[in-house]
Amino acid sequence: MYSPVLVLNANFEPINVCNTRRAIGLILNGRAMLVLNGRGEIKTVSFAYPRPSIIRLGKMVKRPRPRVKLTKREIQRRDGYTCQYCGLHSPNLTIDHVVPRHLGGRHTWENMVTACPACNHRKGGRTIDQAQMQLLSTPSEPPTSARYIFARHLKDNADWLPFVDGW
Ligand SMILES: [Zn+2]
Repeated sequence: MYSPVLVLNANFEPINVCNTRRAIGLILNGRAMLVLNGRGEIKTVSFAYPRPSIIRLGKMVKRPRPRVKLTKREIQRRDGYTCQYCGLHSPNLTIDHVVPRHLGGRHTWENMVTACPACNHRKGGRTIDQAQMQLLSTPSEPPTSARYIFARHLKDNADWLPFVDGW
């Protein structure tokens, strides 16, 4: 009942992910329709119901395109779990403020990168120039494409891909 279901707006734009229970609720009260049933059936004593994988809202919902939240996990995902100074690939990385906070560096996508503990320590409270280090890439806000935003679901829900691509 709690597997993820992709929710499409009336114009087919993917806008959200909800669980099976909520998706069936939306269908039963007429607010959404089944787009893709890739998961067999849900059976109760009295009826069997297709288990949705994708639903589509009947009425267009106005909502700003979702943006990726600025979190440690999302910075690591943007940077491919790779230290942006030495290229070390590891699940145990820290976040470095490119311009240190005590020098006015801000808490933004552009000023935060993934760094391994050794590089973070070596850089310390200095700027890149002061520490004579180099960034492997220029940090920026990640894409707002549906493909990027829903990426963590796509591995287990490959049937969503045609509905996510291009938005
Ligand atoms: Zn490093």
